[in-house]
Amino acid sequence: MEEVLHSCGHRELVDLETAGRNRDQCRGYLERSGRCHACTEIQFGAFNRAAARKADADGLPRLEGTENQIAPATTVREKFRLQFEVAAATVLEAGSPERGVQLVREYFESQIRRIGDAGTYMDWRHRPWVVLVHNCLVDASEEQHLAHGGALIRAYIALSAATVGSSLQLLEDGRLVLAAVGEAGRGGDVPVSQ
Ligand SMILES: [Zn+2]
Repeated sequence: MEEVLHSCGHRELVDLETAGRNRDQCRGYLERSGRCHACTEIQFGAFNRAAARKADADGLPRLEGTENQIAPATTVREKFRLQFEVAAATVLEAGSPERGVQLVREYFESQIRRIGDAGTYMDWRHRPWVVLVHNCLVDASEEQHLAHGGALIRAYIALSAATVGSSLQLLEDGRLVLAAVGEAGRGGDVPVSQ
C-alpha cells in the first residue's frame, strides 16, 4: 500500500502492487485524475441527485427497488436517455430520415416507461441504451418490420453506429451531459441483419 495524493487534493492509501509493471502509470493517473473514495461518493451523489431531478421534471415514473439501487439506477436510466438523444442528433444531422428515428424513439421511450425495476438498470449499467430496444426489435414480426419499409431497422443500425461509449458529466448549473469517450460505434452490437 502506498499513499497517493489524488487530484482532489486528498491523500489515500492505494494498493499499487496489483498494477505490477504499470504501477507508475497507475500512480500518475491517480495524481492527475483520480479521486479519493469520499470525493467519488460525493460526486456520484451529486450525479444521482441531478438524474433524479431530471427524471422528475420529465415526468418519468420512480423506479422500484432497494434504497441503494434506486438512486444509481435512475442515473443509469438518464444516461441511456442522453445517449439516445446524442445518437439521434448525430444521425439526423447526417441525413437519416426522421421517420425511422421517430419509430426507434417510440420503442425506446415505451421501454423506458415499461421497465421500472432498478435492478435491471443496474445490471445494464455498463451497456449502451440499445440494450433496451434490442429485444423488441428482434422479437417484432417480419410484417411489423416490413410495415415500416425497413425505415425502423435502417434507423436502428444508424443509431447503434452513432452511439459512443460515454460517461456522465455534471455541469455547474446542475445539468447532466454526456462526455464522450472512445470511438463511435463502440456503443453496441447490431443484432439484426438488413
Ligand atoms: Zn478527495
